[in-house]
Amino acid sequence: MTKKTSCSELAIMGSVPAFTSPLYVGCPNIGDRQAFLARVNDILDRRWLTNNGAYVQELERKLEEHLGVKHCIAMCNATVALEITIRALGMSGEVIVPSFTFVATPHSLQWQQITPVFCDIDPTTHSIDPRRVESLITPRTTGIIGVHLWGKPCAIEPLEEIAQRRNLRLLFDAAHAFGCSHNNRMIGGYGDAEVFSFHATKFFNTFEGGAVTTNDDDLAARIRLMKNFGFAGYDNVIYIGTNGKMSEVSAAMGLTSLEHLDSLIELNHRNYKAYALGLGDLPGVRLVPFNGKNSYNYQYVVLEIDSEVTGIDRDLLLQVLHAENVMARRYFFPGCHKMEPYSSHFPHAGLLLPETEKLVQRVMSLPTGTAVTEEDINKICSLIKCALKNGDKLTNSIRLGKEVPCAS
Ligand SMILES: *Cc1c(COP(=O)(O)O)cnc(C)c1O
Repeated sequence: MTKKTSCSELAIMGSVPAFTSPLYVGCPNIGDRQAFLARVNDILDRRWLTNNGAYVQELERKLEEHLGVKHCIAMCNATVALEITIRALGMSGEVIVPSFTFVATPHSLQWQQITPVFCDIDPTTHSIDPRRVESLITPRTTGIIGVHLWGKPCAIEPLEEIAQRRNLRLLFDAAHAFGCSHNNRMIGGYGDAEVFSFHATKFFNTFEGGAVTTNDDDLAARIRLMKNFGFAGYDNVIYIGTNGKMSEVSAAMGLTSLEHLDSLIELNHRNYKAYALGLGDLPGVRLVPFNGKNSYNYQYVVLEIDSEVTGIDRDLLLQVLHAENVMARRYFFPGCHKMEPYSSHFPHAGLLLPETEKLVQRVMSLPTGTAVTEEDINKICSLIKCALKNGDKLTNSIRLGKEVPCAS
């Protein structure tokens, strides 16, 4: 393909798409197929498919070692892991959470009749703003859930300080942050506990899956009981529980993925740098940065579009990219507080969430991972530049339906 430069060359104006097949955000990373299939064969030979099998145990030990944490409890997914951990921590009444997160975070509270109280974000980090947490604490508040969005640690120390001083539980939704560190300590050991997602679209996947990590022995023991119906031993149920177990085939996928962790991070980092180079300092476009000496997984390449500067808003830019088969996506739109049941419970929540409301209109995420080549990234960057260069024209013709002479 020759580089598209004029507005008439864009697929949204009727031209041929830049990519013949769609490029998705969160296309799963698949490790060494033979290594995975060998493990699956072994599982089938042994006829031990689930219930704390050898592979789940091996994965838990390896993750504890990798994360430098005392306990890792593998789970069927992060949502159930959050629900169980919230319950095992004794949270009740109200818990403070960001609205700018995947809806599983507030749902895991509401599912247990705990009210999520939405807190606004810091617009530079996109994570919960600790300066706004304290004013939301009431006599019913029992905890805070911070989310390490995009794999960037949220304001851990300020949240720890508030939690300690106000006697609140502190849980981190680390669904995005596997393989990331903070102050040279891996994410996984902060707060009372942290919860990872190993869903297919996440950096490290086990098809479906997740894990709770904690350094608290009693908490770990309660979570282990709860995720297995409360069984303390053969025929001995001592607690109310549910089924949160990870299966052996998922653990086999996890162990296989674990062998590629470093090369995956390297590849994602290379992709990220290619995007940073390709998008340069485009006015009105901010690529969410990863700085400092910490490690990141670079699983999310996130842009903020300031339409007042670019002349084209986020949604129209997405339309332009989708027409080219670049399936970039909005994230957490329109914000959890605008989703049910929260929008009915708190119809005016948006008044307390001005930064969240702004960000959900501006943010988009681009394809990365093993399914995307550096050449693809260069093409995507030039498409974005072309769309921005023709921002006003595209806005006039697509949005406002005006006849615009394109060929210029
Ligand atoms: C993906 C995700 C979850 C849910 O993870 P599952 O494993 O799909 O249940 C929770 N929180 C955040 C922030 C997520 O991105």
